[in-house]
Amino acid sequence: MSKLKIGIQKSGKLYNGSIDLLNRADIKFDQTKNQLIHLSKNFPLEIYFLRNSDIPKYVEDGVLDIAIIGNNQLLESGSDIKITEKLGFSKCRLSLAIPKEKLFSNIGFFENKLIATSYPKSTKKFFNDLNISVRIHKISGSVEIAPNIGLADGICDLVSTGSTLENNGLKEVALVLESEAVLIESATITAEKQSTLNELLFRIRSIIGAVNKKYILFNILNENVDDIIHLLPVLKSPTILKLKRPGWSSVHAVIDKEKFWQIVSKIKEKGAQDILVMPIENIIS
Ligand code: AMP
Repeated sequence: MSKLKIGIQKSGKLYNGSIDLLNRADIKFDQTKNQLIHLSKNFPLEIYFLRNSDIPKYVEDGVLDIAIIGNNQLLESGSDIKITEKLGFSKCRLSLAIPKEKLFSNIGFFENKLIATSYPKSTKKFFNDLNISVRIHKISGSVEIAPNIGLADGICDLVSTGSTLENNGLKEVALVLESEAVLIESATITAEKQSTLNELLFRIRSIIGAVNKKYILFNILNENVDDIIHLLPVLKSPTILKLKRPGWSSVHAVIDKEKFWQIVSKIKEKGAQDILVMPIENIIS
């Protein structure tokens, strides 16, 4: 059986998230970093550790069947490779930033300015679409120091928390694009490999679906059950079981992680007791 070939970053921001996703999908492989290719021990997958910027070309040429890459990198490559799945990690934005002390009222600020970036194509496209002419200075690392050493008027770089900009006396003034890790797929994938990919996607989707959810269970007096049901935006509807102790019920539900504290304080107010909250590994619809 020919094995599905996946490319992932050999180092950098996407490395940990990619390894974590494969681990959670129960794909077992030797994780020592000094080898370019790893074979999975329990899944027909060959894992290639590559330089980020080389990955789109390998997928385009069919050397790799699939890959995990930042959407920003894909857009920068100018390639029209298919995105099969958004993976929900390594979220960041490509933004324009200028020295804090500069006045910025609108994007026209950048007219004829010199911008340092590792993403020249995306930056150029952004300004072309706005009919603003800029000069671009391509640099491959430490972009954020460019304005301080007089190399550029501003930068176009990836921002996650914003602390790198802050530490370098810069302020974010415009969003160029938003990005996250995505799974991309070669156009030349064979039917046999497609079925392996479907199995992998099934696992990945069940993991992504669970990442932002929590499982909550608690006890409540029967007379208060109706008051809390509408507070639980769940998959279908909450499970309500009678407790052995008369007059009490146990309520089980899956809730959105980001609404967790809000929901917990509301149900507590309505009389929920013994609240247990658990992470969910997979959701298979
Ligand atoms: P932060 O200080 O958290 O805003 O991160 C900014 C620094 O991390 C910059 O050097 C970015 O180039 C880099 N960075 C942030 N997020 C990502 C990402 N998802 N992929 C690659 N580089 C990133």
